[in-house]
Amino acid sequence: MAEANNISGSASSQAATTPYPYEAPVSQGLFDRAGRVTPGGVNSPVRAFRAVGGTPRFMVSGTGPYLTDADGREYVDLVCSWGPMILGHSHPEVIAAVQEAVARGTSFGTPGEGEVALAEEIVARIEPVEQLRLVSSGTEATMSAIRLARGFTGRAKVIKFAGCYHGHVDALLAAAGSGVATFALPDTPGVTGAQAGDTIVLPYNDLDAVRAAFAAHPGEIACVITEASPGNMGVVPPLTGFNAGLKEACAANGALYISDEVMTGFRTSKAGWYGVDGVRPDLMTFGKVMGGGFPAAAFGGRADVMAHLAPAGPVYQAGTLSGNPVATAAGLAQLRLLDDAAYEKLDAVSREIRGLVADALTKEGVAHRLQNASNMFSVFFTDADVRTYEDAKAQDAFRFNAFFHSMLAQGVYLPPSAFEAWFVSTAHDERAIERIAAALPAAARAAAEATA
Ligand code: PLP
Repeated sequence: MAEANNISGSASSQAATTPYPYEAPVSQGLFDRAGRVTPGGVNSPVRAFRAVGGTPRFMVSGTGPYLTDADGREYVDLVCSWGPMILGHSHPEVIAAVQEAVARGTSFGTPGEGEVALAEEIVARIEPVEQLRLVSSGTEATMSAIRLARGFTGRAKVIKFAGCYHGHVDALLAAAGSGVATFALPDTPGVTGAQAGDTIVLPYNDLDAVRAAFAAHPGEIACVITEASPGNMGVVPPLTGFNAGLKEACAANGALYISDEVMTGFRTSKAGWYGVDGVRPDLMTFGKVMGGGFPAAAFGGRADVMAHLAPAGPVYQAGTLSGNPVATAAGLAQLRLLDDAAYEKLDAVSREIRGLVADALTKEGVAHRLQNASNMFSVFFTDADVRTYEDAKAQDAFRFNAFFHSMLAQGVYLPPSAFEAWFVSTAHDERAIERIAAALPAAARAAAEATA
C-alpha cells in the first residue's frame, strides 16, 4: 500500500515553497458536494482544515496505523479519530465484538448486559468511580456532570480554565480550546449571558486565581471542572500540585472537583490521568477510548453524588441511545485489550516519535517545545514552556501549518491545528515510524522557512 502514497519525491522538494504541495481531486469534489448540504462541508469544525488551509481529506478506510483517503493515498495516522482508536483502525477483536453485537440487533431502548459489563470494567479500573451513567458523547458527559454538581450542591457557579475544552456545552463554551481555539471565535454567538453568566473562567495552572475566586464567591461555586491533563490547547500538563490544589480548594469550600477525562481516560494509563496523579475527583467524565470508535461516553464518581441522578434521585438525565449495545460491545472489547503491555507500547511509540520530531526541528533551528502527558503529546512552535492558554496562543502557529502540509504531502496525517494533541496507537509499528521519520526533515525545513 505504501506505493499508493508515493508522492513524496516531488512533494518534499516543493514543501518549503508551496503551501499545498499536492492535489486531492476526489476529496475536493466530495468537499464541494458536502459544502452544498452541510455548513462548511463538515460535521465537526476542525475537520474543515480552516486553520491550516487546503483540502480536507475524505477518508474511506483505516487499518492499523494507516488511513486511506478517497484519492487512494495512504497516511500514517497521528490523529486516531482524536483519541478513540488507541488500538489502531479495524482491530480484529473489536471488529469481531461489533459484528457479534450487530447480529443480535442494534438498539433496544431497554437495559442490557453489555452496559453493565462496560460499567463494571470502568469501575474496576478507576477507583474514584463508584457508580457511573453511560451517555453518547463527551459533551453530554460534561453537561450532565455539571448539572448533577449544581443539583447536588444547590449552587450555580462553575469554575473552568481558559484553554480547556469540555465539549460544546453552552455554559462551558467560554475561553474553550480545541476548535474554538482554532477559530478564535470571539464570544460564541448563540450562548446567552444567562447561560455563560455563572461560568468563571480562570487561567490554567493558577491556584491563586482559584483561591481568589472561591473567596470572592463564598457558598456560590458548585464545582471546578478541569481537563485532567489538558490536550485541547495542545498538550499542557498540570504543574505538580495543581490538581491536588484544586481538589483541596473544592473540599474546603463545599464544591465538587470534576476531572474531565474524556481525552485522557484509558489513554494516559489504564486508569487514565487519575492513574498518573492519583488525585481523587468527586466526579469524572469519559468518552473517546471507552467507545472503541463508537458513540459511548460516561460520567461517574462518588456514589452519594450519583445517587442524586434520576431515577434514583431528582436530577434529570436521559438518552435514547445511552448504553447502546453495539457501542458498549466495541468499548468493552477495546478496554479489555488495554493491558499494561499496551500502555508500555503506547509510551514507547510516543517517546520515539517525540524524539524524531524534536531532532528534526532542532536540526533546522526551529524553536519548539514538545510537551506530553504520558503518550499524548503535541509540538508548540515556541522557545518557552507552555503552561497556559496565553502561552499556547503565543506560539508561531504559521510554522505548524507549513509543517502540517509537508507531512500531509508525504503521507503523515497530523491534527489540522496547532492547538490539538497528537495520538498514537498500539498498531504504530516500526514501518509506520520509519515513514514518519522519513517525512520529518522536509517538514522541519518547511517550518523553518515559513513566514507569518
Ligand atoms: N472533554 C474533553 C476533554 C474533550 O477533549 C472533548 C472532545 O474532544 C469533549 C469533552 C467533548 O467530547 P465529544 O466530542 O465526544 O462531545
